Amino acid sequence: MKNIILSSIACAFLFTACNQKNKQTEPINSQTTNSSSALYTCSMHPEITGKKGEACSKCGMELTEPFTGAPAIETKTATVVATESEVQPVVSSTFSIEEIVNSYLKLKNSLIKDDSKGAAAVGKIVYTALNSVNTSSVNAKLKAEYLEIANDAKEHAEHIGNNAGKIDHQREHFAMLSKDINDLIATFGTKQKLYQDYCPMYDEGKSGYWISETKEIKNPYYGANMLTCGSIKKTL
Ligand SMILES: [Zn+2]
Ligand SMILES: [Zn+2]
Repeated sequence: MKNIILSSIACAFLFTACNQKNKQTEPINSQTTNSSSALYTCSMHPEITGKKGEACSKCGMELTEPFTGAPAIETKTATVVATESEVQPVVSSTFSIEEIVNSYLKLKNSLIKDDSKGAAAVGKIVYTALNSVNTSSVNAKLKAEYLEIANDAKEHAEHIGNNAGKIDHQREHFAMLSKDINDLIATFGTKQKLYQDYCPMYDEGKSGYWISETKEIKNPYYGANMLTCGSIKKTL
């Protein structure tokens, strides 16, 4: 009998304990849903809401912006629209690939003259030009695209700059640099009228492309040996 009483007391105690737990959580839930007018958001993450002064769960900043009720989806759409409208004025006064293109053309002209030392000197200028483009005015997507191409191009410009006297090695990197320059022009455009030329002899026809400012064919891969070998592939 004692046992039965004891166990029923235990049961009753457990039951109340459970019941109390449920009652305790209830008011917290109703508070968060009812008092949306007192919600605050993070200035960086408008989708994060909480009480004023609480920390943003994404970045830890204090929630200081009064929550206006705009759902996260609307904010996302707004960002996408902004990104699309930013695509237009890419070639602004602050972001420009003209310096890169101009120094590349000088490099190409040095190779046409079989001038390895000159090519090395201009290769360093191409490197500097690739490094000094102002990417702060373009959106994150275009900045990433620029950096991906430019990082590869910088490596080739560096090798051309460091290999004065080894014109064959410089021309190998020039072929790969030319592809990068072509990609930059395709992505960001240029103010100049340019041509993409192609030499079917170089690298068994695999990589002999270059960009030129003149309609006349002057081959940077063979110089005086085969100056007029090649043809215009397209106008850029
Ligand atoms: Zn945040
Ligand atoms: Zn190399």
